Amino acid sequence: MERRFEGKVAVITGAAGGIGRAAVERFAQEGAAIVAVDLPSTALEEVVAAAEAAGAPTLAIPADVTRSADVENYAKAARERFGRIDAFFNNAGIEGWIGPMLQYPEDQFDRVLAVNVKGVWLGMKYVAPIMAASGGGCIVNTASVAGLTGTPGIIAYGASKHAVIGMTKTAALELAPFGIRVCAVCPAPIETRMMRSLERGINPDEPDAVHRQLASSIPLGRYGEPAEVAALVAYLCSPDATYLTGTIIPIDGGRMAR
Ligand code: NAD
Repeated sequence: MERRFEGKVAVITGAAGGIGRAAVERFAQEGAAIVAVDLPSTALEEVVAAAEAAGAPTLAIPADVTRSADVENYAKAARERFGRIDAFFNNAGIEGWIGPMLQYPEDQFDRVLAVNVKGVWLGMKYVAPIMAASGGGCIVNTASVAGLTGTPGIIAYGASKHAVIGMTKTAALELAPFGIRVCAVCPAPIETRMMRSLERGINPDEPDAVHRQLASSIPLGRYGEPAEVAALVAYLCSPDATYLTGTIIPIDGGRMAR
């Protein structure tokens, strides 16, 4: 494995989840110091152990990304411990309630937008000035193919991921003068807890049938693996991608080619 992040610092939110944990491992293997952020209730210590086993100095910061004080704190902690932030994987997200829009609970709608939209904005708001202070860096926001098309059953999630794409483009324009690139990745179904939850939400009696049906709707015939998303995020943050910003990339086994 190349070590493209030797001497660099990566902050990753949703670090205890499927995609976030894979990103922690990838950045650690490529030489970055890691700041792993997730809710206090999560297994962040396991994530730290995996990153340290790969030789990465790692700091775990429990935070709720909807709370500005928590977000400011994780950005500040990264600067105090490591002096800089070079890569920011702004990835924490929730699927929310699953069901028809006409029955969608208002409190669930508000929570999905708080985590997936406000949390992403707050992350950029507090991390970008630290990146700028050391000459720039790269922010990768996690959107979804649900940010590119309509997806019945998850109206709040779809709205939130469309918003992530809009914020990514705006941030790319505003932050370019500071040497900060901002991109978004749009995964199709990836093998994580979130998809198990969506499969159960779509058909509580036969989630495996939903898995088979969704997998067969993808040209490559399968869900993606978290490590495949992590590899793309690492590429975007690396010196191999220095002319990419405002770029919205599906990682979807061909799904958006239909
Ligand atoms: P996951 O549930 O395994 O991980 C999400 C992580 O975000 C969890 O560890 C969770 O604790 C954390 N989180 C949730 N709310 C938070 C909050 N308020 N503050 C801090 N952390 C919080 O799911 P995943 O599949 O790894 O999802 C990661 C990202 O990828 C999400 O933004 C999700 O919407 C997106 N995504 C996932 C898929 C997929 O198929 N799995 C597809 C497209 C996009």
